[in-house]
Amino acid sequence: MIYNRLGKTNLEVSRLGFGTMRLPTKANNADIDKVEASKMLKYAIENGVNIIDTAYPYHSQGLDGNGESEKFLGEFLTENTLRDEIILQTKSPSWAIEEKGDFERYLTEQLEKLQTDHIDIYLLHSLTVPDWEKVKGLDVLDFLDDVLSDGRVKHVGFSSHIEVDYFIEILDEYPKWEVAMTQMNYLDEYYQSGIMGLDYLKEIGIGSMIMEPLRGGRLVQNIPNDIENLWNQAETKRTPVEWALQYLWNRDDVDCVFSGMTSLEQVKQNIEIASRIDTISENDQELIREVARTYRTYLGNRCTRCGYCMPCPHGVDIINCFTEYNIAHMMDNPKASAMQYFSLIDEDSRADCCVDCGECIPFCTQMINIPEELEKVYEYFGDEFDHF
Ligand code: SF4
Ligand code: SF4
Repeated sequence: MIYNRLGKTNLEVSRLGFGTMRLPTKANNADIDKVEASKMLKYAIENGVNIIDTAYPYHSQGLDGNGESEKFLGEFLTENTLRDEIILQTKSPSWAIEEKGDFERYLTEQLEKLQTDHIDIYLLHSLTVPDWEKVKGLDVLDFLDDVLSDGRVKHVGFSSHIEVDYFIEILDEYPKWEVAMTQMNYLDEYYQSGIMGLDYLKEIGIGSMIMEPLRGGRLVQNIPNDIENLWNQAETKRTPVEWALQYLWNRDDVDCVFSGMTSLEQVKQNIEIASRIDTISENDQELIREVARTYRTYLGNRCTRCGYCMPCPHGVDIINCFTEYNIAHMMDNPKASAMQYFSLIDEDSRADCCVDCGECIPFCTQMINIPEELEKVYEYFGDEFDHF
């Protein structure tokens, strides 16, 4: 494993971090397959991963839920006496804070779920501009000062999907930030805070943590033929996962890349890649840019399947509607995706069930106007399979 200094925290973190939002599950998203997930975490820690990320809602049925990920992680670390071996990161659900006491209430609950007396890195989760204004008004900075002083939290930061100007504004408003988590991959250099945000983090000594390195799996699944042909021209042959991860690890402004792993096989594969120095040549860097340009011609919309917009109160399966729509565009094979769309998604969960209430829009990490995009999905697939 290769380790990086995480900005001014002075922590040495494995450059691969374990994200626990997509652990294997059984009956539903809140029903973690604990046996399999434990195997994955054990393997990761034994092979050098030393930072694990979770959050209050991970593995619940919706964004506001009290998720099972923290609880599972707390049990796992205690049963295996591994708490002191890892850097534990979790997040305060900034969207759910309604009054000052909520910061304390969530932290207390999270410490209990995680069975620990301190969090190594505590982030304000998925900060939007309105949520930042709201939590500032509720004295979040005093709360952060307090928890840093009493030792329940060792380092503080935030995660966000916001544009670079706001990102920099938030960084400049609190001198005790030590880490920030942003979305980055070779398709998103100029999206959200992008590479300008990473540049700024490096300039001011804030640790950079990356989410969505594979863009919700889109960079590694259902690869269009054009893209495969481009990869075949590379000076060094790599798998799509290697391209995506080594692209990030070849950047000197990236400290830690979080992967939300779902199987032991993925854990092994990612650790193998993270443990190898693989310098990308200038020609291969240019090839990555060409692949990114080609991908952009295929995109239906920017959904990363993060699930934050779910559940829709009207039962729309937003994620799978967008997934089939996007795969159809990427593979240029509408018929195959239409078969999936009509067979996998129940009639009362398809795009035409959206009533345009707008409740999901503030939750979208990719700032997608979800009802507008669902309208496009409906126009594309229609009412029934024989549309094609
Ligand atoms: S806008 Fe549509 S998809 Fe979004 S919550 Fe309302 S009904 Fe559901
Ligand atoms: S529509 Fe937005 S919030 Fe919903 S899964 Fe896609 S990216 Fe995530």
